Amino acid sequence: MNTLPFSDLLEEMAFLAELKGENPFKVRAWLRAAELLDEKDVASLYRAGGLEGIPGIGKGILSLIGEYAKGGELAEHKQLRAAFPSGILELWGVRGLGPKKVKALYESLGISSVAELEYACEENRLLSLKGFGEKTQNSILKEIRAKKAYSGRVLLPKALAIAEEEMEDLRSQFPGATFALVGELRRLMETCDRIEILGMNFDIDGLSGFAAKGQDVWVKQGEVLPVFLTKSRMERWGTDLWMLTRGDWALRGINDPVPALASEEEVALFFGKLPLVPEARDLGLWPKSERGSPLNEGIQTSHIRGGFHLHTTASDGKDSLRDMAKKAVELGWEYLGLSDHSGSSFYANGLNKERLLAQKREIEEVQKEFPTLRIFHGVESDILADGALDYPDSILEQLDFVIASIHGQMSMNKEKMTARLVKALSHPMTTWLGHPTGRLLLGRTGYEFDWSEIIHVAKEEGKSFELNANPYRLDVDWRILPQIAEAGVPIAISPDAHSKEGLADVRYGVAMARKAGLSVGQVVNTKSRAEMESWLKR
Ligand SMILES: [Zn+2]
Ligand SMILES: [Zn+2]
Repeated sequence: MNTLPFSDLLEEMAFLAELKGENPFKVRAWLRAAELLDEKDVASLYRAGGLEGIPGIGKGILSLIGEYAKGGELAEHKQLRAAFPSGILELWGVRGLGPKKVKALYESLGISSVAELEYACEENRLLSLKGFGEKTQNSILKEIRAKKAYSGRVLLPKALAIAEEEMEDLRSQFPGATFALVGELRRLMETCDRIEILGMNFDIDGLSGFAAKGQDVWVKQGEVLPVFLTKSRMERWGTDLWMLTRGDWALRGINDPVPALASEEEVALFFGKLPLVPEARDLGLWPKSERGSPLNEGIQTSHIRGGFHLHTTASDGKDSLRDMAKKAVELGWEYLGLSDHSGSSFYANGLNKERLLAQKREIEEVQKEFPTLRIFHGVESDILADGALDYPDSILEQLDFVIASIHGQMSMNKEKMTARLVKALSHPMTTWLGHPTGRLLLGRTGYEFDWSEIIHVAKEEGKSFELNANPYRLDVDWRILPQIAEAGVPIAISPDAHSKEGLADVRYGVAMARKAGLSVGQVVNTKSRAEMESWLKR
């Protein structure tokens, strides 16, 4: 069954044929015919013989129409589609991207979906392509963001920024009132589709932009996300906070009616097993020692003493190692791990072995300027299709650490991908598995592999997983973290920073670690400088 009108189908075929580098005359003929047949009931016209002899409708087109009129899928269309990843058509839908540009993106940068395109723009990769300037890159990014906002969910940092603005607005309108964030944003979910606020002691008549939604609930259709405002009272504040924040606990049998209570501590006592840190509520964790009292333990950003995984101007980063080091000192860090891209990531200006080793001199110089900060030398090595790393062992042995990551050939079956990851993890020089699933939030799901096998191998080989704190990734997913931690495999919360500001992204990683209830000891970059030195040498 064909769901597309014939002219749209033909246009799509012309696009794919051009991408494939097929005969330009054929492409042009298809486009011309698509224009002629736009909004026409092609099948009926064909059956009535009304298309014969029309200029622009040649034999080739007629036979395609014949196939179409029979209702079957066009063989040539099917073939063209099979030649490319399905996301390629999505790219074509981004305003400003014609076949030539999509072809350049696909062939030179391996981009085959909108999510990958957005990430590449973020990392300035389009600038290296002929025909793409900074202006094009910016307008593409703007277009993608607009689409994403339309799709209804946004990443955590964006949602937090909107919420902060809304709260500020409300507080300035109602100085005597109290407002608090509730809902999925209070639980620091990695993406959100609404802002939810609980308030008391404000007069709804003075509220602009909000429309009544139900008993004591108002909603505002914000530009990006809707804002829900619920009115509470002092004597039931705790109950309302709990009810509007509870998350999946409702599915875990902790859904008894709660009496009106003034604080969440009282609600905790009522249940006898509520973890008070809102972000930890999705997993329903309850540390044994803290039964019945507020939970303020667990990892916090202030525990992080350094970060690995950052890119400088040597590969696709925006800032120099010196600028990164300065920022790290400002963050109070004791160490920093330089890890630019390896040679196979040619689109990211990955380093060949000469350039990689030349970084040693640069590190030496910068190290002198920042004596309180230990700079470790590493690399983010591509994991090749067969699981090998990107440099010979003799080169890798000269580094302090290796982050092994997959950046290409992600569509492998589960068995092959598992074998690939096992091989990379087992390499004696591998320290971390970088962004272990390869997901891009709101864009690309991760590749499939056998988690328990990978965790088992990491444990056996004494390896560690990265919790990539880049808000586009937050990979590994916090839902898997407890399983990794319970197996005794350490986790590094790594910024994957492409600019000095990016170093502070570790806070989003910490948020995810808190969601999973990780303790300080389970996160490797809470170690002191001396401890880290010996841990890396182990
Ligand atoms: Zn990477
Ligand atoms: Zn990276």
